[in-house]
Amino acid sequence: MDSSFKSGFIAIVGPPNVGKSTFINAVIGEKVSIVSPRPQTTRNRIVGIKTLSQGQLIFVDTPGTHRTRKRFNRQLVEIARSSFRESDVILVMVEASKPHIDQEFDYLKEELAQTKKPVLLLINKVDLVKKEVLLPLIDAYSGRYHFQEIFPVSSLSGFGVNGVEQSLLDYLPEGPRYFPENMYTDLPERFLAGEIIRERIFFLLQKEVPYSISVEVNQFREGDSGGVFIRASIWVEKNSQKGIIIGKQGRMLKEIGKRSRKEIERFLNRKVYLELWVTVKRNWTLNDAAIRQSLAL
Ligand code: GDP
Ligand code: MG
Repeated sequence: MDSSFKSGFIAIVGPPNVGKSTFINAVIGEKVSIVSPRPQTTRNRIVGIKTLSQGQLIFVDTPGTHRTRKRFNRQLVEIARSSFRESDVILVMVEASKPHIDQEFDYLKEELAQTKKPVLLLINKVDLVKKEVLLPLIDAYSGRYHFQEIFPVSSLSGFGVNGVEQSLLDYLPEGPRYFPENMYTDLPERFLAGEIIRERIFFLLQKEVPYSISVEVNQFREGDSGGVFIRASIWVEKNSQKGIIIGKQGRMLKEIGKRSRKEIERFLNRKVYLELWVTVKRNWTLNDAAIRQSLAL
């Protein structure tokens, strides 16, 4: 891999409705469902991943960076702080069409000042304003905080989005391609769930199974009660491997499932329902349901 490959986490912050999700969609280049109903947690959620030839941009949202109406909420400040700490670059988004520089921003300013991370300002929705207002607006914002750069953008039309991407690469540290190239959004959770299961299999079975086994997460959806339902297939090459993974009376598979579920729950911070299937790759066809074995855990 190119040694100058850049990668890192980009926190995107700003009040509701400024266009953060729209911006991420514009970067990713396709419609992805970004908003998933989940309670605010301190964990930062990856909302989009863009893999370029020179680097990988991983966008995380920062729950609760916006002030709740009038009351200053200590806990939310803490969350903002932690997400700033964990990211490499911070994008602050405001709206060109609502140039009132409000308390919202002042509150953020104090937090930003403490991070010492590069902070870029995106003035979004420039399609809604006349050109003449832009320059004074940029001046006004640059007078209020030392932003590394200020970009007028329109997430809706895509104007300026490319420039932001390129600039982000400059600010990110050198680093690996954390995620596969074709991964865009909340798939990381899905991907990591698969990795966790794979890890547990190797942990429990050590040299008994070859590295060629793979785990595919076939379903990953919100359950009714706020949990996540995950169904994954463990792909093996031989019947004998299938036997080893399932174990006597399904005990091994049960253990793999139990440990995986616990770890995925820890990672997602939510209840997980996990269903594992073991499938022999070679023999598998769509109609071959009979040779599949499942165990609900
Ligand atoms: P978020 O709450 O910050 O994630 O904001 P959203 O991305 O959900 O956008 C809020 C609203 O603003 C949506 O109706 C978007 O279509 C709209 N919007 C976002 N970006 C732009 C833009 O560049 N121009 C215009 N005119 N509307 C935008
Ligand atoms: Mg949003």
